Amino acid sequence: MSVKPGERPRLFGTNGIRGRPNELLTPDFCLSIGKAAATRFGAPEIAIGRDTRRSGDFVLSSVAAGVLSTGTNLIDLGILPTPALQYYCKTRKIPGIVITASHNPPEFNGIKCIDSDGTELSAREEEEIEKIHYSGNFRSVDWKLIGTFSKDDTAVTSYIEAIRQRVSGTITGKSYRIAVDPACGAAYASTPRLLSELGCRITSINCYPDGLFTSRNPEPRPENLGILISMMKEGDFDLGIAHDGDADRAAFVDENGDFVEGDRILTLLVKHLSRKGDVIVTPVSTSDSVDDVAGEIGARVLRTRIGAPVVARSMIDNRATLGGEENGGVIFGDHQYCRDGAMTAAYVLSIMSTTGKTLSSLLSEIKKYSIRKGSVHFTGDWNELSGHIERSMPGSRIDRTDGLKIFGDGGWALIRKSGTEPIVRIYAHAENERDCTAIFGKFRKIVEEFTS
Ligand code: MG
Repeated sequence: MSVKPGERPRLFGTNGIRGRPNELLTPDFCLSIGKAAATRFGAPEIAIGRDTRRSGDFVLSSVAAGVLSTGTNLIDLGILPTPALQYYCKTRKIPGIVITASHNPPEFNGIKCIDSDGTELSAREEEEIEKIHYSGNFRSVDWKLIGTFSKDDTAVTSYIEAIRQRVSGTITGKSYRIAVDPACGAAYASTPRLLSELGCRITSINCYPDGLFTSRNPEPRPENLGILISMMKEGDFDLGIAHDGDADRAAFVDENGDFVEGDRILTLLVKHLSRKGDVIVTPVSTSDSVDDVAGEIGARVLRTRIGAPVVARSMIDNRATLGGEENGGVIFGDHQYCRDGAMTAAYVLSIMSTTGKTLSSLLSEIKKYSIRKGSVHFTGDWNELSGHIERSMPGSRIDRTDGLKIFGDGGWALIRKSGTEPIVRIYAHAENERDCTAIFGKFRKIVEEFTS
């Protein structure tokens, strides 16, 4: 990566470093990040793992060489879901590095650093790693102290066992018929195995490693889940489960073949797993349905900035039991403080089993809001745009936790600059479709007028 004198761009986005191999992710760059991360951790050993991406060996080897040069030993866990590596870090109390670009297209890869408690690093700690990378002030050891490389293939088994124990007794024996689509990503073997061990009957698609993601884009959105949705519509299944590329998220298709938005799954989990006095953490972008259900139970909802690490850290600080994002990333405080796709799937099945209801029937008990999401290309100054938006909405109630959340007209809009792409995201949320469309249209017009 070429950096002009004095120019030090931020490397870590909302979820680690992301880029294209041999563009941002050159061997030299990955080596330097490996050295910087290991210098910052200062631990005797670090766990490392990856998703199925074609460039995984390339990025991992480059990062690994940097780690070893600091005298830190590496434990290679192989291809595994990000939450499986995080569970390993948590139980062994060692830091970790995951080579993954999560849901991004196949030409991307990424580097994510995990703390020794299994959580993603805070922004402050990531900045420390960036600082070391830019300064070149790495720990370097004598040849006799260079780190060693070993393999441990037990991480997935321990992870599956931990999930199984949390839901044991509530699912086994039900023989649910499940269609599962891990996108040829990191959970290609682990989620089918977990579901089999829970006594489910599995029909699998994309359950083999394909680092080019030729079968489908790894983002588990309805437009990428055509085959799974058709299977659910035509076949006799109780539940469809899909993952993103590194399986920290799960997406669901109900028994009728209808895709379920992440907000609704989070709300369902709050309704059935939370108790009076519990704290629920979710970003400002999530549906009000979470507040509705939490209010009925007597649980408290804390709203944060967008980003799973922010939610996880807030959960730890506030001793929260459940947290999650509108994209289907759910964090279970009593399991581990990170998003966990397989744990989410197991809990959804557990709720279906203990209530004896189908997913569509469970969701029919939750109020459905109208939600629209979109984006506008934007490379300008966010402060100028946000000032313009505020001046366009005099007297409105505005929440500035992350971007601008503006209330009124029967709902709210959230407008924020993306941390990873040259766009401004616009969310609209209302009681009905008409108000939602009007709110979305109004703010898109305001943003487009400013940018044109
Ligand atoms: Mg992911």
